[in-house]
Amino acid sequence: MSGSRLRTTLAAAARDFYHQGWMLGTAGNLSARRKGGNFWITASGRPKDALEDEDFVAMDLEGQVLEAHSGRRPSAESAIHQVIYRNIPTAGVILHVHSVEANLCGHMAAQGLLRLPPLEMLKGLGIPEGEPEADLPVFANHASVPEIASEMDAFFQAGLPRVPGVLIHLHGVTVWGGDIVEARHHLELLEFCFRYLVQAGSLGLGVQK
Ligand SMILES: [Zn+2]
Repeated sequence: MSGSRLRTTLAAAARDFYHQGWMLGTAGNLSARRKGGNFWITASGRPKDALEDEDFVAMDLEGQVLEAHSGRRPSAESAIHQVIYRNIPTAGVILHVHSVEANLCGHMAAQGLLRLPPLEMLKGLGIPEGEPEADLPVFANHASVPEIASEMDAFFQAGLPRVPGVLIHLHGVTVWGGDIVEARHHLELLEFCFRYLVQAGSLGLGVQK
């Protein structure tokens, strides 16, 4: 996919997520790996329902800016994207959004893990068993983004998560996929799990089998 096409595809996804209420007030960031291994990422502080090609910055995996339109800076959370691309060679697209449900689910996490509900939907996240026991890693939301990224890096070095995503506590979810289609599926399925957990909790239901 050409550089302009990649950015147009990410901009379309951002518009959809904005209208879902997942990227309000310039929150969230999206990126896609380019040929050669570096990546396009959304610029900081731009409205997510109206991104143009110039609202993306090209960076390498060490955080060096390669291409940027005048006045555009990379997302403040680009260090997290660098860590994911460095550790997960199959990640071609990374999506990070802030939803109400993801934040409520942070309260249900224990010891750095959120147990996902054992739903059929988990098959779309690469979990093939019936009624599986699968956990989403949860990271503390430090004010310093490089500190979050460094804890994520250490976690990935010890072993990649089964589920293609991570949650940052009281902040939002980050998912990856080989391309935009797969990454969007992963995001939709995890957000479905979050809505299920919140609704199950408000009904007083346990979510385990
Ligand atoms: Zn964020």
